[in-house]
Amino acid sequence: MPCSGKMDIKALTLPQLREELVRMEEKPFRAGQIYRWLHRAGDGRVRAKAFWQMTDISSALAEKLDQRFYINSLSIRRKLVSRLDGTVKYLLELSDGNCVEAVVMRYKYGNSLCISTQVGCRMGCNFCASTLAGWVRNLTPSEMLDEVYAAEEDTGEKIASLVLMGIGEPLDNFDNVVRFLEILSSPEGENLSLRHVSLSTCGLVDRIYDLMKLKLGLTLSISLHAPNDRIRGETMPISRRYDMDTLLKACRDYFDYTGRRISFEYALIDGLNDTPECAGELAGRLTGMPCHVNLIPVNPVRERGYKRGSRQNILRFQKLLEQKGVNATIRRELGSDINAACGQLRRESQQLPNDASQKRGELPC
Ligand code: SAH
Repeated sequence: MPCSGKMDIKALTLPQLREELVRMEEKPFRAGQIYRWLHRAGDGRVRAKAFWQMTDISSALAEKLDQRFYINSLSIRRKLVSRLDGTVKYLLELSDGNCVEAVVMRYKYGNSLCISTQVGCRMGCNFCASTLAGWVRNLTPSEMLDEVYAAEEDTGEKIASLVLMGIGEPLDNFDNVVRFLEILSSPEGENLSLRHVSLSTCGLVDRIYDLMKLKLGLTLSISLHAPNDRIRGETMPISRRYDMDTLLKACRDYFDYTGRRISFEYALIDGLNDTPECAGELAGRLTGMPCHVNLIPVNPVRERGYKRGSRQNILRFQKLLEQKGVNATIRRELGSDINAACGQLRRESQQLPNDASQKRGELPC
């Protein structure tokens, strides 16, 4: 639990922790030991939840640390496991009682984890359940780390890749997300290469440029969902701040600067953005850009009337893009028996009494 006046030790990078220890008149090498207890697991060792669990430091130092710092933690409030493919969806409770979602997807190459970056979202995309109740607050770097650590501890397996595609807009929580990625990729910690991380944004252009300059090596995913400003304006309010020309120019610049191919997300909504004309227009705009289009049959959200088109329509859309030289795949749907659109589980937990979960084959936790 955060304690007033205490520092969040998990949110410190190793050099920052070293500085703190020097300030406390402790040996700098202790920082490495403490950092590994906080961020590294494996070989039978679990991450420490309290300073007294750090068995290679003295109890006097543990006491001193406890007076100055707190160790953040979160708990699994609900857990849904797909009987079809083992996908696990978590509702995670933060120390202030707010909840976010994380999902473990199982692939041949390993587990991929999708995490949230904010409690709620203020971007207002009208097909997305995460934004319906608005934005509450940003997640801290340690809360995002704890999403990863909780999923690994619960499954007993290390994650192979990470996607920032849960609740929230990562670029609207820029500094915390960058710090989180720095700690996550540090060799003394989880040591996940940022080549295995995808960050998805609805298109905050100024922040895309800020991210570009950091050259983190991650994959940038852009939620495009429309071939033009008129249709994008119907579903995504951000398009009024940055039109598609500005957004696509930022994507080209991002590729030129980082050499990293852009991935575009395109949720197909029946009759709105899935016509052959839309496919033609989209291909025209993306021609010549090193990119990949990920087609997603829209997840119907109870509060909205959007529907997904037929399988045939989706395949036709993909074919039309491919014919014009645009690389496109249809996202494989995982966990369809526990399928709750982005943010839907958290939304349900706000609206329904606790026992409503029993109807859905949910595991108690
Ligand atoms: N704010 C970020 C990341 C969170 S949403 C973003 O906008 O990219 C992750 C992805 O799921 C985005 O591409 C988002 O547009 C998409 N999404 C949200 N609700 C959806 C729905 N009902 N059906 C299909 N995709 C959806």
